[in-house]
Amino acid sequence: MEHAAPMPPPPAVRARLPALTTVVCAALIAAGLAAALSSSYFLMLMTFAAIYVLAAMGLNLLTGYAGIVSVAHGALICVGSYACAIATVRLGWSFWPAAALSAAVGMGFSALLGLPALRLSSWYFVLITIAFSLSVTAMINDLRALTGGYGGIVGIPPPALFGLPLEGFALLALVAAATALLWWAMRNLLHSRVGWALQSIREGDVRAQANGVSTARLRLFAFAFSGAIAGLAGAFFASAKTVVTPEDFSFDFSIFFLFVVVLGGGARLAGPLLGVAAFYVLPELLGSLKEYRMIAYGVGLLAFSVLLPEGLAGALAAIDERRAQRARLAPAADGAAAVQAQPAPAVAGMAVDVRELVKDFGGVRALDGVSVNVRPGHIHAIVGPNGSGKTTLLNLISGFYRPTSGAVDLGGVPAHTHGPTDIARLGVQRTFQTPRLMGELSVLDNVRFGGYVRERASGLELALRLPRALHESRAFDAEAMRLLATVGLAARAHERAALLPHGQQRLVEIARALLGRPRLLLLDEPAAGLSLGELDELGALMRAIRGTGITLVMVEHHIELVADIADTVTVLDRGRVLAEGTPQQVFADPAVIAAYTGGSA
Ligand code: ADP
Ligand code: MG
Repeated sequence: MEHAAPMPPPPAVRARLPALTTVVCAALIAAGLAAALSSSYFLMLMTFAAIYVLAAMGLNLLTGYAGIVSVAHGALICVGSYACAIATVRLGWSFWPAAALSAAVGMGFSALLGLPALRLSSWYFVLITIAFSLSVTAMINDLRALTGGYGGIVGIPPPALFGLPLEGFALLALVAAATALLWWAMRNLLHSRVGWALQSIREGDVRAQANGVSTARLRLFAFAFSGAIAGLAGAFFASAKTVVTPEDFSFDFSIFFLFVVVLGGGARLAGPLLGVAAFYVLPELLGSLKEYRMIAYGVGLLAFSVLLPEGLAGALAAIDERRAQRARLAPAADGAAAVQAQPAPAVAGMAVDVRELVKDFGGVRALDGVSVNVRPGHIHAIVGPNGSGKTTLLNLISGFYRPTSGAVDLGGVPAHTHGPTDIARLGVQRTFQTPRLMGELSVLDNVRFGGYVRERASGLELALRLPRALHESRAFDAEAMRLLATVGLAARAHERAALLPHGQQRLVEIARALLGRPRLLLLDEPAAGLSLGELDELGALMRAIRGTGITLVMVEHHIELVADIADTVTVLDRGRVLAEGTPQQVFADPAVIAAYTGGSA
C-alpha cells in the first residue's frame, strides 16, 4: 500500500497518547526532582521557594483578589520569623507552638496595620505598610535584648514530628504540604460567598454592600488571613535558615512579594507559584550557572518569541478567550435546558414610606421634599425626565445616601439612619442603572453572590468543605440555576459575565437580587438595552415576581412597559413629585405631558 501522508497512529495508540504523555512527563519530573534533591543546594532552593509561595498566597488573597495593595508582607514574615526564633531559642518552646505564635503575631500586626484602612482610603494603607516595612528592622535593632540586634538569633531548631527533626527533604515536604493545603482551602473559599464578596470589593464597596456584605469586617478578615499566613511562613523561614538577622528582611523583601503576586497574575490561584518561579527560582538558578547564563537567556528569549509572541499578557488574554469560547460551545453541559424556571417562593412584601425627603449634593438639591407611599406587593414605578432625582431616591431607600432631611420607613422600621449593608439584611435587594457584575466571574457565580445574606456556613466551613457548607452551596447552586432559567439565561450560566450585553447583564442582576429572597426589590431602569421580545419577557417576569408577594419599585423610562404592569406611578420632576396615581390617571395628566415634552428634550 502507498501513503501520500504519514499514517496516523492506530486508534488504540491515539487513545493512550494522553496517558503516555503523562507517564513520560511524570518520569521526567521525577528524574529531575531526584537529581535536584540529591543536592542540598537545590533542596534549600525548593524549600525557600515553597515558603515564598505559601507567603505569597496569603498576599494574593489581600492584594490580588480583594485589591488592597500591601507593601508590608516581607515585614510581617519578619515579625513571624522573630516570634518563632524568640519562642524557640529564648523561651525553649518547640516548633509547633512557636509557629502558632508566629501566625498569631503576624495576624495581629496585619490587622493593626489594616485598622486605619477600614475608614481611610486604601492609599493610606499603602503608605502605612511602607512605613512599617521601613521601620521593622530598626525596631529589631532597638529591642536588642530580645532580638539580638544586628547579630540576630542563632540556633533555631527544625520542626520535629514524634521526636524526629524534619530537616532537608522532610522539611521541604512539610512546607510543600502546608502550601498544598492552603491552596486547596483558598480554592474552596474563593469559590464561595466569602470569595465573591472579597472580589466584589476590588472595584469599590457598592455592590458588596448591596448584597449585605459588611465590608469593614471582610477587609479585617483579609488583613488577618494574609497576616497569619505571612507569620506562619516566617516560622518556616526561621526554622529553615536556623538563624534570623535583620538583614534578611530589607525593604526589597516586601517589594519582592508584591512583584510575585502582581506579575505572577493577581487574582489567579497559580499566580504566586508562577511568580516565585519567575522571580526567585529562575534568577537563583541562572545565578548559580553563571557561565551558561547568556545561553539560557538566549534560549529563553527565543522560546518566548516563538511561544508567546504577544508577551505574557497577550498569552493570558488568549487563554481567557479560548476558555470563553469553550464555555459558549458547551452551554448545556450540566443540563441547563432541563432546569425549571422558578421565581422566588412567596414572601410578605415590604411597605415603603418615604416622607418629605430632601437630598442636597453641595449646591444641587436633587430631591426637594418627596413623599411616596409604596403598598406591599405592588409594582410602583418612578418615572420622570433625566436628572429628576429617580436614582437618588433609590439610593436613599437602599441606604447608599443619607437624606439631608426627611425619613424612610421600610416595613415599619425607620431605615434612613442605616447603611446599605443593614438595609440589604432587612430584605431589600436592588439592581443598578449601570450593571455591576464581576465581569471575570461566571454568570452563575454572579447570581450565587446574591445568596450572601441568606447563607449561614462560616468561612472556615467553606474553606474546609465541611458538610453544612457543601450542602448549602449545592442548594444555592440549584436555586441560582432555576432563577437564571427564570430570566432566560440558563444556557449562559458558565460564560464570563462580561461577555453578556448590558441588557442581559441587568437580567443577571435581577436573578442575583432574587436569590437574596428580598421583600422589596428596587430596579433602576431594568428595560434599558433590551430588545422588544425581551421587553415582553421582562414584563411577564415582573408580574411573576409581584405574584410571589415581593414589593417592586422600579425606575423606568419605558412608558409602555410602565403602563402595562405598574399598579401605581409616581412622576418626579426636578426633585419634586409632579403626579401620582394609576398609569391611566398619570399619563393623561396635562402637567405630566408638559414636563415630558418640555423637560426631556
Ligand atoms: P435620574 O436618575 O432621575 O436621572 P439622578 O437621581 O441621578 O437623576 O440625579 C438627580 C440630580 O442629582 C442630578 O442633577 C444629578 O446631577 C444630581 N446627583 C445625583 N447623584 C449625585 C452625586 N452623587 N453627587 C452630586 N450630584 C448628584
Ligand atoms: Mg437615574
